[in-house]
This record gives sequence, structure tokens and C-alpha cells, in this order.
Amino acid sequence: MLRVGLTGGIGSGKSTVAGRLAEHGAVLIDADRLARAVVEPGTPGLAAVVDAFGPEILAPDGSLDRPKLAAVVFTSAEQRERLNGIVHPLVGGRTAEMLANAADDAVVIHDVPLLVEKNYAPMYNLVVVVHADVEERVRRLVETRGMPEADARARIAAQATEEQRRAVADVWLDNSGTPDQVLAQADALWADRLVPFEANVRLRRWDKYGNARLYDYNPEWPLQAARLAARIKLVTGGLRVDHIGSTSVPGLPAKDIIDLQVTVSSLEQADSFAEPLTEAGFPVRPENTGDRGEETKRYHNSADPGRLANIHLRVAGTQDWRHALLFRDWLRASPEERANYLELKRGIATRFASGENLGEAATAKDAWFDEALPRAESWASKTAWSPS
Ligand code: ADP
Repeated sequence: MLRVGLTGGIGSGKSTVAGRLAEHGAVLIDADRLARAVVEPGTPGLAAVVDAFGPEILAPDGSLDRPKLAAVVFTSAEQRERLNGIVHPLVGGRTAEMLANAADDAVVIHDVPLLVEKNYAPMYNLVVVVHADVEERVRRLVETRGMPEADARARIAAQATEEQRRAVADVWLDNSGTPDQVLAQADALWADRLVPFEANVRLRRWDKYGNARLYDYNPEWPLQAARLAARIKLVTGGLRVDHIGSTSVPGLPAKDIIDLQVTVSSLEQADSFAEPLTEAGFPVRPENTGDRGEETKRYHNSADPGRLANIHLRVAGTQDWRHALLFRDWLRASPEERANYLELKRGIATRFASGENLGEAATAKDAWFDEALPRAESWASKTAWSPS
């Protein structure tokens, strides 16, 4: 199963995208719809709300009088919390039920308007944000939904900012154009990313990384690494996760593969996270458990074909653990050494462009690191560097 969080500001086109993905076969869990369903007439939810706020919040037909309830909770944080205390657990229960009932190979789209505001992003294998400019959203809400303009603006102002949404978006769907354009993006997302990602997680595999091509340094790499790290932290109960490797060194061209180092206290601890990490989208890579063939780490890969990543679980204080951090910090601090290393990388990228014999490419790099280690160590003692 793949769990995808879908969000976006009101009027951005979230429901439009969710509907299209559902047509392709996704299981849709709509948080807004559930929040309404759990307080429909005859539900224990509505009974609890009446208990808390009195029968005045009912309309003559016995259904919830939403404007009246809204007026009550709008002015009081305490009343708002009281309402949330009733509705949220019920929505959570229904969500868990729908997840439990979804097929093993389901792609679940969880449409959550407040995903960013609630910091839910790390709970998903992937977060998709639908975006349209504020003015465009106001226009759509007024024209197609008949919302008063002031209401539309007030709601938009109360939600997360574009910058906050960008920080959690693994996929950014720009819905500034026509509906057909965003639907085509949703189609491509489904076919090129969600379907293979789901299969990879279910079958515990990852896409082959047989490509040594170098890309210019991408300032998005640290942000992408941070999103993966947040997922890993969540499933490992807060272990230290560092962005390491070439993509962690600003200015350095690199293969488009993020390396992350997870600090564990023992390999047994690393093994205990094999399954949770797999479910989070990072299956174990069983045939390669160590650096240079030694049993010094556990190795996972990203199953997301749209974001390749190597996840190295290494024991705190071991040599390889320390070197990964040292080389990163040393290369960040030393422009000449960066240039020197880049030269080696360019040579490797040319020699191994076919993607064959990548093992030899790794050996060539190891040799460079062996030769560079004394220089890195001398920098470390000069600057009183420490890995913590
Ligand atoms: P959300 O679920 O994010 O609030 P919707 O998908 O309901 O947004 O879209 C808001 C309104 O804008 C809907 O009436 C929808 O039909 C319309 N809409 C969505 N995308 C576009 C677009 N690209 N151009 C014009 N109108 C759109």
C-alpha cells in the first residue's frame, strides 16, 4: 500500500486532482467529507456535539446547524478545542478503518486540507501539493463556488503559506493553467510515480540506480533530504538523520541520488527498523550490508522512482559513521578539495557512463577517500571538528 497525502489551499484544485486519481483506481479518503459524515443525524458524533453545545446547534430537521455551531466556536478557542476533541478522534477512527480495509496494492490518497498546518507530512510515503496563486483561487471560489470574496480571502489568510507548503511538497502540481493541464499532470503522476512506487514498496524493491550521470548542484537537494529525513525520524522514534554524500555539499555536481545516514546504537537496532522503514518507502537492500563488504551498516534504498536515495544505517562512533560526516563537512569547508574531488567524479562519470561496472566506480572513489583522509583529519584537528 502507498499512502499519499494530498493538500493545497482552498480553491487550489485539490478535489479536482483527487477525483482524477480516484478515476485511475486510487482509494480516496477525504478528510473534509469524513468530518461531515461523523456528525450526520443519527450518529454518536452528533449526539456528543449536542451534549456539549446544547440542542440549539441543531436545525429544525435535526441536522447540525453549521453556521450556528461555527458562530459558537469561532469566538472561543476553548469551544473550538471541545468540538475538535469530539470530531477528530471520530475522523481518525474512520480513517484508520478505511486504511485497514484498503487492498494490499492500494494507492491511498488522503485529501487533508490542513496537512501542512498539522505537520502530518512525514506520515505519508509522498506528499502532493496542488498550487494556484491566491488571486486565481479567489476568482475560482467566487465564480465557480459562489463564495463571497471576503469569505474566500479570510479562509485563505487563515491557512498555511505557499512557502510552508513548498517545504513539504514532494510533488508540486501547478494548477495555474486550464483544468486539462492539471489533469494531465495528475495522469502522469499516477502512471510514472504512484503506480511504480506502490509496486516497489509492496515488492520490497527499488529502481535500479545504474546511471553515473552527474547533475549540477541542485539547491533543492537539501530540502528533499530534509523531507526524507523527517519520514525516517518518525518511523525510527527520532533517530539522528544526516544528509551526507555529494548532494549534501553545496556547489558540488553529483548523481541525482540523496544519501542519508541514520545513526543507530547497534546493528540489532538497525534491523528492528527494517520493516517500518520499508513501509515508509525505504526497502532493505539485502545484498549489500556494508561498506567495502564489511558488516558495518544496514543499507536501504528509496522505492520512489521520482526521488532516488540511499539510506545508510551506521552505528554511532564507528569509523565509517564518522568519516561520512567528516568528509561532508571538510568538502563543504574546502573549495579546492571540492574541485579536486569533482575532477575524480567527472572522470568516473565518463568512464562508467554506460552504468556498467559501477562497483569499480565505487572502488575508484574509495581510493580517493583513502588518499584524502589525512588531509581531512588534519583539517578536523585544526578546526576542532567533531561529529556531533
Ligand atoms: P479545492 O478542493 O482545492 O478547494 P477544487 O478542486 O474544488 O479546489 O477547485 C476549486 C474550484 O475551481 C472548483 O470549482 C473547480 O472546478 C475549479 N477549478 C479547478 N481547477 C481549475 C482550473 N485549472 N481552471 C479553472 N477552474 C478550476
